Amino acid sequence: MGKVAVVFAAAAVVAACSVAAVMVGRRMKSRRKWRTVVEILKELEEACDTPVGRLRQVVDAMAVEMHAGLASEGGSKLKMLLTFVDDLPNGTEKGTYYALHLGGTYFRILRVHLGGERSYLDVQDVERHPIPSHLMNSTSEVLFNFLAFSLERFIEKEGNGSNSQGVKRELAFTFSFPVKHTSISSGVLIKWTKGFEISEMVGNDIAECLQGALNRRGLNMHVAALVNDTVGALSLGYYHDPDTVVAVVFGTGSNACYLERTDAIIKCQGLLTTSGCMVVNMEWGNFWSSHLPRTSYDIDLDAESSNSNDMGFEKMIAGMYLGDIVRRVILRMSQESDIFGPSSSVLSEPYVLRTNSVSAMHEDDTSELQEVARILKDLGVSDVPLKVRKVVVKVCDVVTRRAGRLAAAGIAGILKKIGRDGSGGITSGRSRNEVQMQKRTVVAVEGGLYMNYTMFRESMEEALVEILGEEVSQYVIVKAMEDGSSIGSALLVASLQS
Ligand code: ADP
Ligand code: MG
Repeated sequence: MGKVAVVFAAAAVVAACSVAAVMVGRRMKSRRKWRTVVEILKELEEACDTPVGRLRQVVDAMAVEMHAGLASEGGSKLKMLLTFVDDLPNGTEKGTYYALHLGGTYFRILRVHLGGERSYLDVQDVERHPIPSHLMNSTSEVLFNFLAFSLERFIEKEGNGSNSQGVKRELAFTFSFPVKHTSISSGVLIKWTKGFEISEMVGNDIAECLQGALNRRGLNMHVAALVNDTVGALSLGYYHDPDTVVAVVFGTGSNACYLERTDAIIKCQGLLTTSGCMVVNMEWGNFWSSHLPRTSYDIDLDAESSNSNDMGFEKMIAGMYLGDIVRRVILRMSQESDIFGPSSSVLSEPYVLRTNSVSAMHEDDTSELQEVARILKDLGVSDVPLKVRKVVVKVCDVVTRRAGRLAAAGIAGILKKIGRDGSGGITSGRSRNEVQMQKRTVVAVEGGLYMNYTMFRESMEEALVEILGEEVSQYVIVKAMEDGSSIGSALLVASLQS
């Protein structure tokens, strides 16, 4: 071999080696990045872990906090609010009634016609619209004028001059925010949640605000009851099945109410009702316990929210927040590794990933996870390999399973408080030997998250059986109540008239 040829050969070897070295280096780097992603996922799984032992601690904490909230005003983060609802609709109601429901994302209007028998419940003209986002931080006047205007349009559609002054319509106002009631038809807003911020309304009577707006429009409608959405769901549940004693909503936010004995509401001594009971609105979104599995993502979400240090439980289990927890995990993965490609500014936007998209990704059953790819593309993350899309699905699973399981612990906590969990309640004082009859107990559930996100619903129902055990679970029936909050509130107004 000539001298020149030797030089060329040597150079070729050096070049080949350096190409190989670069490739090996890249592969190592890519492996390291992949390892980072796997570690973030593992850390998330550990932090969100909810073995049944931990859930039982949450159950106990919920029952204890319920007691504390009933014992004294401000005794717990659970407000345990009086609703002044002591009798629930029983099926004998008659007539036509209306409901207007301001939820967290939607407002709904409907009419029910009742024929005096349980089987004769005719729900008519259900209208459901997204709440225009500018209303969430507008003024009281703008918000209520809008609601009154929407009601007017609804009534106009009934036709035949039915807006005539002679016909007075009885209306339920279903209001999904914490209210301190002074009667069934009046109460003041305690605080906003779920991103609403109209500060001037805090402390004002909500029913009065709506009645004023209706009067200004000349609508002959009477706000006969101001009803928390959970109480509406309980009313519909009870109407169909009198074993219904608990209602829970999993929508944009989350809350629960239940039927309590008045003598257990210690903070209101001397409270007398004909039934000896009253529905208590727990406002359980604000529940907190050190046993809740909290992650750095929850801490950051809370700190950056408009209501930080508030609604800690809601922020782990409700529809408004699950998407943002998932987004935060994906964002961290993309920042600490480049497997999601160049950084996306969209992914940094709070609440850009909705829980609807989380369920669409979680329930994507295409072999290539095309729905996941599509949603990631909308977030400015394109062309991620299949294994990364699988990681995203896993993140959705971890966050939603935790939510469903904690929701189940919350429900079991209520059952424990009222002695329906098979243990006799925490202060029942019954002897261990006493044979206890487990009563059939129906839990009415509603809300977009529960109705539409199968994996959430299944995680919740599975965990409830795990916590209560097979035997007791047979007596606990979870019933879905589509539009229960609104329909039930109208039924409640009907029961007030009869
Ligand atoms: P509101 O909270 O206004 O009363 P809903 O009870 O209908 O309204 O709940 C709406 C919320 O439910 C949405 O904001 C979303 O968080 C959740 N949701 C609705 N559809 C789905 C879905 N397909 N998958 C997951 N979550 C959903
Ligand atoms: Mg709702």
